[in-house]
Amino acid sequence: MDRNIIAALGLAPFEKGWVWLVGAGPGDPGLITALGLKALSEADFILYDALVDERLLSLARKGAGLIFAGKRAGVTSCKQSDISNLLIDLAKKGGRVLRLKGGDPFVFGRGGEEAGALASARVPFRIVPGITAGIGGLAYAGIPVTHRDTNHAVTFITGHGSDGKLPRLDWQAIGKGSETLVFYMARKFASEIASALMAAGRSPDEPAAIVANAARDNQSVTVTTLGGLAAAAEKAPSLSIIVIGENVRLREQLAWLGKMAAALNPA
Ligand code: SAH
Repeated sequence: MDRNIIAALGLAPFEKGWVWLVGAGPGDPGLITALGLKALSEADFILYDALVDERLLSLARKGAGLIFAGKRAGVTSCKQSDISNLLIDLAKKGGRVLRLKGGDPFVFGRGGEEAGALASARVPFRIVPGITAGIGGLAYAGIPVTHRDTNHAVTFITGHGSDGKLPRLDWQAIGKGSETLVFYMARKFASEIASALMAAGRSPDEPAAIVANAARDNQSVTVTTLGGLAAAAEKAPSLSIIVIGENVRLREQLAWLGKMAAALNPA
């Protein structure tokens, strides 16, 4: 990375023997942070997960070791403990180790577990937050995660418990807790989630959207209702965020990706 940028921004040095846990953002490689770019250009080893855009890896310095450490097609190719042990080994051998994860490393991404293993092993680490899919992915769909006209609170929920099932949650509390609900890893359980929320008193007419492949070239957005969510989810691609709440309606005006040419050249 350009030395002038590193100096102008006063970016932290990436020292030998350190692990940086970095969020790459939800898709568009341009969404990585300046610290993330610096880490990419300086790391000796890069352990990346399946959600990371390949174009980012092309920025690795010559000779850097690129190690795939993620899941593909739902199959765990790497055990979590193996990944943590590898991070520890590489750092203890004096490497600058970059652990690059999709979105934000601390949002439903097991970054906390990896950082915990590093802390126990007394390996120094830095956390570089990234743009999480449940915020940045919605922004790419023209859905503000909050807006004064629609919601004053938002809840982030995972549809995937550590046993692979829908986590046991207090759906009554979730239904009442905030106007907007954002679900990760929830497509498979969309039908159960929608039923539980309607049983908790949420209206079947409430707007909902499935934002698939957010911030990627193949982004697709399906707008539906809570009542129609189960059927819509069946047709949606697997990498998707589900959002339920009145803020989904804002997309009618704010959808921008691929739409600005029309705004500039009205018919
Ligand atoms: N740490 C990541 C989330 C990892 S969990 C983050 O902060 O974004 C993986 C889940 O995130 C996927 O199942 C999906 O629900 C969501 N996700 C990640 N990237 C996405 C994208 N580009 N489009 C839609 N959903 C995405």
